[in-house]
Amino acid sequence: MTIGLEIHAELNTKSKMFCSCKNSSFDKEEVLPNTNICPVCMGYPGTLPVINKEAVRKVLMVGKAIGANIADFTEFDRKNYFYPDIPKGYQISQYKYPLVSGGSIAGVKLTRIHLEEDTARSSHDTGSVSLVDYNRAGVPLAELVTEPVIHSSEEAMNFAREYQLLLQYLNVSDANMEKGEMRVEVNISVSKDETFGTKVEVKNINSFKAAGKAIDYEFKRQVQLLEEGKSVVQETRGWDENKNSTFSQRAKETANDYRYFPDPDLPKLIISEIPDFSDSELSKIIPETPSLKRERFSKDFKIKDSDIEVYISNREAGEFFEEVASLLNGQQLVQTASNYITSNIIGLSKAQGLSFNKGSLSPKAFADLVAMNGEGELSSSGTKTILELIWGGDKRSPKEIALQDGLIQKNDVEEIKKMAEKIIENNPDSVSEYKSGKESLLQFFVGQGMKESKGSVNPEVFKKIILELLK
Ligand code: ZN
Ligand code: MN
Repeated sequence: MTIGLEIHAELNTKSKMFCSCKNSSFDKEEVLPNTNICPVCMGYPGTLPVINKEAVRKVLMVGKAIGANIADFTEFDRKNYFYPDIPKGYQISQYKYPLVSGGSIAGVKLTRIHLEEDTARSSHDTGSVSLVDYNRAGVPLAELVTEPVIHSSEEAMNFAREYQLLLQYLNVSDANMEKGEMRVEVNISVSKDETFGTKVEVKNINSFKAAGKAIDYEFKRQVQLLEEGKSVVQETRGWDENKNSTFSQRAKETANDYRYFPDPDLPKLIISEIPDFSDSELSKIIPETPSLKRERFSKDFKIKDSDIEVYISNREAGEFFEEVASLLNGQQLVQTASNYITSNIIGLSKAQGLSFNKGSLSPKAFADLVAMNGEGELSSSGTKTILELIWGGDKRSPKEIALQDGLIQKNDVEEIKKMAEKIIENNPDSVSEYKSGKESLLQFFVGQGMKESKGSVNPEVFKKIILELLK
């Protein structure tokens, strides 16, 4: 199987690609259909498009962030076809001279990233009529095309996820697939040798999971056709989410069908002559990318890869972790802090339906708590109890809570021994059962010790002592 991906992402600019209409694609509230439109994006005769500089900048940022080639000369072309969602009868896109070419993401080589305009949104599920909303017509769209170098659905999904993260880190697009802000199309072919088979394009994929399922389905379908001695038809297929299968939509167009030619209404761009697009200007506005952040976290903090991935996809958690780590001395404490963040704090957040909520926990209080745990003053259950109290709004410091609530871990052998003797005295039946061979009762005694000490006894020390006493 060989896979190439085409990914369209709406850019989160203020206005549309070639007119001053509001780009409402990322608005939180619902926008009335056909309210953000004008003669330009409605394709009226005699109107003139104007290039959105911010949209060009955003595509250049992506190109530069991944070390791809930035075009010096670039231009826009007309891609001609008829459909009600394309009011001009053509889409303004880039054909011969894309803004960005080459580069790679997650080890997958890119062919290009070019800039174009989105189409209107049509709905065909409204009874006997179809409806078209032109708010989306003319929204800036970055189209990325990979080389056909992907060979599994996992690799394809990993690439798409990594690209989504990059768009979000660069604040170029919100890239939400469910909302259609990022749309993945898959080109798949199968072959038993090094040559390429006939490729089939699959559209209408609105989640990573669907992309993976569509690839796996298409692989099986094509292999079966070939094994039956039939041939694969070059076509565009849709993904049916309900039937979990692809279906034929139309025969594939070739570039010739679109009669591309340079748009005479728009100026050619010489990128090197635009000061705002110079290397140094772009460098100023490009933040740390996910892959650089990964490297830095691994080098500076030496935490688990799975923790790093949590901080890559959950940026707020990552920022909190970094603040805490800067307050801690030593590798071990930093790793402990990361464990509590990725399991406990994120667990508490998820219970509230949030991806990350540090609650009332300041980095300082949390660092103090982790340090106490590192010193052996707190058991893991004591640490967790205090973490939950402060997270939920307890204003006391970790030290105050530990002292006032009796959570300081007891390592004092004499004191623990006294407590263990008391437990043995109070549970004569369990003691005789234990002595007659029911050794699993040891856990019961340890539990009693934890209960008696409100979790403040060091369980390992307690276990040792009660074992000796029982003997
Ligand atoms: Zn407009
Ligand atoms: Mn396109």
